[in-house]
Amino acid sequence: MTIAETTSPTEVTERVAGDITALIGGTPLVDLSRYAENRALGARLLGKAEFLNPAGSVKDRVAWSIIRDGEETGELRAGDLIVDITSGNTGIALAAIAASRGYRTKFYLGDNTSPDKHRILEALGAELIDVPNSLFLDPEGVERLFARAEEENPGAFIANQLGNPANPRVHRETTGPEIWADTAGAVDILVAGVGTGGTVSGAGGFLKERKPTVRVVVTEPGDRSVPTEDEVYPDEIDGVHKVWDVEPDLLPPNFDADVVDEVVAVEAAEAYAAARALLREEGLFVGASAGAILHAATVIAGRPENAGATIVVILPDTGERYLSAGVFEITRGAGG
Ligand code: PMP
Repeated sequence: MTIAETTSPTEVTERVAGDITALIGGTPLVDLSRYAENRALGARLLGKAEFLNPAGSVKDRVAWSIIRDGEETGELRAGDLIVDITSGNTGIALAAIAASRGYRTKFYLGDNTSPDKHRILEALGAELIDVPNSLFLDPEGVERLFARAEEENPGAFIANQLGNPANPRVHRETTGPEIWADTAGAVDILVAGVGTGGTVSGAGGFLKERKPTVRVVVTEPGDRSVPTEDEVYPDEIDGVHKVWDVEPDLLPPNFDADVVDEVVAVEAAEAYAAARALLREEGLFVGASAGAILHAATVIAGRPENAGATIVVILPDTGERYLSAGVFEITRGAGG
C-alpha cells in the first residue's frame, strides 16, 4: 500500500493503537538481499526486525507477557513496584509498559550495561541499582541477587525474566508463529542469540514442531564454550563480555538447550563489523547482539549445503542503544 492509498479520503477506517502494548510484536521480516549479494551468499537472509518494537527491542514481548500474566493472576496490583535483574532491554521494556499502566520499576543492573541503556532507564524513571557484573557470571551470584532483590523490596512483583515461563511462552505464541506465517513455512534455519534463552526456546521450539527439519543456530561470544549442567560457567579467564546480552553466562531455566543444533562463536569485532555493515548496506540500525547473530548467519549462509535455504536472523534491538559503547566507531582506514 502506498502513502497516497492510505490517506485516500474514501474508505478510511480509524487505525489507532490503544496504548504501547498494542504496538508490540508483529514485526516484519526484511530481506537482507543487498548484504547477501555483496557476499555472494547462496542462502536467503531474512532479518526479523525486533528493533521496531515500541520500546526498541525483542524484550517488549517478554515484558508485556510477564506483566499481563501478573495482572491476570492478581500477583501484580495497581501501583505495584516491578523489580528485575536485567542487562537493560528487559528493564527498558518493563519500565515503558509500567509507565503506561501506573506501575513503578526498579532494576538491578550489571555495571557493564551500555551507558545508553542506563540513560534510557533513568529517563523512564526506573530506580537503578548497579551491581558488579561478576555477580551475573555464576548461578550462585544470580541467586544471591534475587534473594537481595526480594529482601530489599518486600511485596514487590519480581518479574524474573530468567525463570518466568511467560518469557519463552510469548515467543512460542508470537515470534515463532510470525516467522512461520511470514515465510509461508519456508523457514529452514533460525539464528538467534542466547540471553535468557527465551527467544530460541520459544520461537525455535515452535518452528521445530511445525517443521522438524528446521535448524536452530545460536551465537556465543568469542572463545567461550557452551554452558552445560556440569560446566555452567566455562570461561573463567575473561569474564568480561564484549557482545552484550548474548552471553550464556549460566543456564537460565528458560533456556532449552535441546532446541539448539549448532553454536557459532563470534568475536566482538566480528559482531560490530556486521552491525556496521547492515547499517551501511541495508540502512538498518541494529545492536551488538544483532551483529553477532548476523555474523553467525553469514557463516551458515556461506556453506554450500545451505544454498537456497531461507535463514531467519533475529535482530533483537536498535543500534542507537550502543552509540556510546563504540560499536559504530569507524577506525580510520577500516573502509568505513
Ligand atoms: N539480544 C539482546 C540485545 C537482548 O537484550 C537479549 C535479551 N537479554 C538477547 C539478545 C537474547 O534474548 P533471550 O533473552 O531471548 O535469549
